[in-house]
Amino acid sequence: MSTPPPTSSLTPPPTQTLTSACPECDGPVRFDRAPLAGQVARCSDCGVELEVTSTSPLTLALAPDVEEDWGE
Ligand SMILES: [Zn+2]
Repeated sequence: MSTPPPTSSLTPPPTQTLTSACPECDGPVRFDRAPLAGQVARCSDCGVELEVTSTSPLTLALAPDVEEDWGE
């Protein structure tokens, strides 16, 4: 007497594919996982550096130029 267990409706894991638009070229910027505020990402379209200014909603801003290489 083997009664198969009732198949409970499996809820798929939430796909955390987060996408936001690049403020520079309006291209999609994807994150594999939920980004953290302050995280720096790079647009795969135009290559600009972006900073996550907010996580909900996901907001991206151009990262400040880190070319402060005015070393003496
Ligand atoms: Zn871009």
